Amino acid sequence: MADRRVMAVKSGGEAGFAEWRDCFAALDPSLELLYWDEALRRPAEIDYALVWDPEPGALARFPRLRVIFGSGAGVDGILLDPDLPRHLPIVRMAIPEAAQRMGEFCCWAVLSLLKEARRLAIAQSKGEWDYFEPPYRAEMRSVGVLGLGAMGTRSAEMLRALGFPVLGWSRTRKTLPGVESFAGAAELPAFLARTDILVCLLPATPETRHIVRAETLAMLPPGAAYVGIGRGSHHVLEDVLAALDGGRLSGAVLDVFEPEPLPASHPLWRHPRAIVTPHVASLPTRAERAGFVARAIAAFERGEPLPNLFDPARGY
Ligand code: NDP
Repeated sequence: MADRRVMAVKSGGEAGFAEWRDCFAALDPSLELLYWDEALRRPAEIDYALVWDPEPGALARFPRLRVIFGSGAGVDGILLDPDLPRHLPIVRMAIPEAAQRMGEFCCWAVLSLLKEARRLAIAQSKGEWDYFEPPYRAEMRSVGVLGLGAMGTRSAEMLRALGFPVLGWSRTRKTLPGVESFAGAAELPAFLARTDILVCLLPATPETRHIVRAETLAMLPPGAAYVGIGRGSHHVLEDVLAALDGGRLSGAVLDVFEPEPLPASHPLWRHPRAIVTPHVASLPTRAERAGFVARAIAAFERGEPLPNLFDPARGY
């Protein structure tokens, strides 16, 4: 049996911790899990950390920490720490189950816009027979996906299968069957001009902050729609709201905000052409995520490379 190793966990509160512990007990019994508060009392014992939003300075208190695992695909909550031990590897969660769940949510959001689901829900809530004929079929509305990583690629594949023409924008050019690839800042205007339904699945970086704002929304064809499912930092919410009110945007599905939760008083909650969800686009189970972390630790301890490492030079 392997030597005792200890992993500090800050993801999902105490109830989440109990579930993480059960998952890892089945996968790697020699890996001991410590709830965050306990880990902070016993910092010298910690080898690994599994975290979503550690408080600033906390990770620097573990002198023998070897690897930081993000409990989600984006590690922006970890990078906020000014005292982050920068020499340590940070592993971003990358599991097919998460990409599949994101693809499902993305298709639901895009189909909701195509079928005017918000309008139908409002009518139902009033008991009104709001008969209308939605003008578009899937092949008449192009979907442009910002970010063709794990999440964006699976979403693009699933949207293609539904019959949508799909375009993708990323830093480097891609070859994906049936997906027209645009790359880099210079090609963003051309990508936006051809996009009827814009989906954002970028990571949160300084370059992607506020990429969806009045100026870029104005490059979309009139009556385009927006699906914000990456991070709240990607959009200027006031600009999205103004575009909805002004008719530039025909609809929006928004899952991510800055800050979260979106305040109850925010007009988007009640907007007749917006669907608001509470950052639930892709929530893989703890069992799905624990399997990835346990496999990564086993590989690391065999001296093999860690998967899906955060790259400080790229910022994601
Ligand atoms: P990846 O790192 O696999 O992919 C990121 C993609 O964005 C890549 O295609 C990358 O380009 C592209 N990209 C990054 N920076 C730029 C830039 N400046 N210009 C153009 N393209 C850029 O990430 P994932 O697919 O795993 O996750 C994406 C994001 O989805 C996460 O960071 C998170 O913010 C969000 N997310 C949201 C969830 C939710 O529930 N709402 C759940 C999970 C994730 P290239 O391929 O060239 O490197």
